[in-house]
Amino acid sequence: MLTRSERPLTDAERENLTRRMAAARAESGKALIKSDGGRGDRLRCSRPLYAAGVGCAGVRHHRIPAVTTGATCNVVKRRTRTVHSMRIAIVRLAAVCALLALISAPAAEQNPNRRVAFTIDDLPTVSVLGDDLARARRTTDGLLAALRRQKIPAIGFVNESKLGPAVKPHSDRVALLQQWIDTGLELGNHTFSHVDLHRATPETFEAEIAKGEIVTRRLLESTGRQLTFFRHPFLHTGTSPETRKHVRAFLDAHRYVVAPVTIDNYDYIFAAAYDRTVARGDAANTRRIEDAYMDYMLSVVAFYEEQSRLIVGREIAQTLLLHAHALNAATLDRLADALRTRGYRFITLREALEDPAYSLRDEYYGPAGITWLHRWALTEGKRGIFAGEPVVPEWIEKAAQGR
Ligand SMILES: [Zn+2]
Repeated sequence: MLTRSERPLTDAERENLTRRMAAARAESGKALIKSDGGRGDRLRCSRPLYAAGVGCAGVRHHRIPAVTTGATCNVVKRRTRTVHSMRIAIVRLAAVCALLALISAPAAEQNPNRRVAFTIDDLPTVSVLGDDLARARRTTDGLLAALRRQKIPAIGFVNESKLGPAVKPHSDRVALLQQWIDTGLELGNHTFSHVDLHRATPETFEAEIAKGEIVTRRLLESTGRQLTFFRHPFLHTGTSPETRKHVRAFLDAHRYVVAPVTIDNYDYIFAAAYDRTVARGDAANTRRIEDAYMDYMLSVVAFYEEQSRLIVGREIAQTLLLHAHALNAATLDRLADALRTRGYRFITLREALEDPAYSLRDEYYGPAGITWLHRWALTEGKRGIFAGEPVVPEWIEKAAQGR
């Protein structure tokens, strides 16, 4: 017999999850329609914008099966009526407890075979406080030490503009990327200067891709590896089929594979709050931000697990988007431990893309930088299942803005 962790969700369990999501929706309705305008655009990498047509309907209603254990209980004649009644009560109580345990079981117990690829953007590093070399070194050292300890085969996506002029990059900045190579990790192209395809012509965007690969390609090839992956800045992939096709042809011609994202989040807002708080020497709030960030990230992961079940019908091999900042350097061990507890093992992006889900059609041409899960859903005309994304606490938003 399958254990709870080995079998698909029952209707009752799904109902419970759906109800929990509905409660979250009710609490976070305002956040669902917020746009990405105005708030720290220079911090922003991707930005899930819940555009028109993405609502918060879609709560499905299943009836929880009635507990009917009493109906199958045999009367044992020699026992007293009182003992028999007690037995029925105990059996009923046990059944109710079992059902409650079943439907409220933590998600971690529902799937011990989860997989996730860590993809880390904006290399070498990113900080709201600027591109200070000492900070960049600390962040790189911290990230790579944690990735090594946790045996996470991550990929880092590079903006080569951060290395200095394209014709003569600074060797101390290139050394930061060399550390990734020396750790055995993969690197990908994230355009030269993080250009936004929705604000550039396809030709400009393609020139940025070409300009952004020079150092990264050389470093990879020095170890016999090929530059393979490309990640769109802001997850903006073009607002028309023509633009998409144009850029796609360029990427194909240069043998790039597009790196999707299925778990998006606002780590960069927490990071801005963190950097400012660390700079003030405020140890208590530094720890408080780390704790809030962990709570937030785990709620995000749970949200995208459920989105995957709703959209694809199962939990796919996920691709997690993070950024190369000090907060992730400080908390990556905690995040990895928590994900492992939820049943995750850490795989390469290449392995994740072997999941057949990634061959689903993406014909989303809206303006938002949304996940591939949501692209597949919108392409299939699915609506009303996206709401409930965890929100960033207001005090974090304020701290990120230095208020
Ligand atoms: Zn980015």
